Amino acid sequence: MKISYLSCDICGFKGKNPTEHQHKELEIGGVPMNIWTLVYSLPKSLKLNDYCKGIARYKEYIPFEIRENVVDEECNTPMIKLKENIFLKDESQNPTHSFKDRGIVMLVSDALKAGKKKIAIPSTGNAAISLGYYANKAGLESIVFIPEDTALSKKEQIKKRSTIIYDKDLVKSYEHFFDFCRTDDSVYNGFPVTNLPYAQGIKTISYEIFLQMGDVPEWIIIPVGSGGNVVAQYNGFKDLINMGLTDKIPRFATVQIKGADPITLGYQTKQYDDIILIEDSIKSKAEAIASDTCFNYFKIMSILNETRGIAISVTDKDIEENQHARWLEFSSQSIFPALDMLINNTNKKDTIVLVGTAIDRG
Ligand SMILES: [Zn+2]
Repeated sequence: MKISYLSCDICGFKGKNPTEHQHKELEIGGVPMNIWTLVYSLPKSLKLNDYCKGIARYKEYIPFEIRENVVDEECNTPMIKLKENIFLKDESQNPTHSFKDRGIVMLVSDALKAGKKKIAIPSTGNAAISLGYYANKAGLESIVFIPEDTALSKKEQIKKRSTIIYDKDLVKSYEHFFDFCRTDDSVYNGFPVTNLPYAQGIKTISYEIFLQMGDVPEWIIIPVGSGGNVVAQYNGFKDLINMGLTDKIPRFATVQIKGADPITLGYQTKQYDDIILIEDSIKSKAEAIASDTCFNYFKIMSILNETRGIAISVTDKDIEENQHARWLEFSSQSIFPALDMLINNTNKKDTIVLVGTAIDRG
């Protein structure tokens, strides 16, 4: 399977490599936005490769090399029926207990292919834990840039396998990370927001939802930090349409924390063409979905518009008062108050899938 070309969402430029064309005016602190759409041809049916395990079962549908020595038991997570028409896609059942494993296995494969010895990413925690695990399998050194206020339990896990570099907040982590990658050629820049193999791994969540339900749901509720999961899952559902398996796309409901919710703010004020940067965003226990800005901003605005979606904000108190599936981390638990808000605005018979992104690490 081959990539046909990359297309720039902003100006329509067609290229082969993300580095050959960028929009400097859209960068914040030297951090690029995700503006690329990958165009590739797909088989006309969906049949996973049962001779492989993990992400490699999807290799016919992913236009990047997958290294077998990096692959683990990621993917194939359970779909739990909560009510007649409401399901939980439990991504905490991946090897390092978050959906990030699907993307990180691809990112580490790509770093090996590029012949790099070190791999670096910025993260709020779960991606860093995943990177430590997969980089270790591949024999690569891992370096992660995380905000100082990352949960202690996550810091403890990250430092077992990776070098940690702390910064004041996530945007500062991003800036520091890019400076670091620019000065050391032996480092693979694994910035998940713009990493194409990473996104191709994450899109398999959508394939699996379709295979497990035998259909596409009316709604999907996704907790959003950097937003890469929303964009990748949208692309996964688009693949299903391009393969001729369905003509339906789910309506997307994004969840962020009130006061640290650039997506909700942008969507409610119809600010589609200019990225939102929140000064003095509030601190939340749901640190994975509380952010000042979103580097997938334009893509998510477009997805919410196209799918007639909804951007929901909840508070820490909303989450505390509405807990289910308590094995999920606090940020992931935001899907439950969001579900309550969504149900009031939708057809009672609609099928809804909630994506439980990661486990509670205590
Ligand atoms: Zn362009």
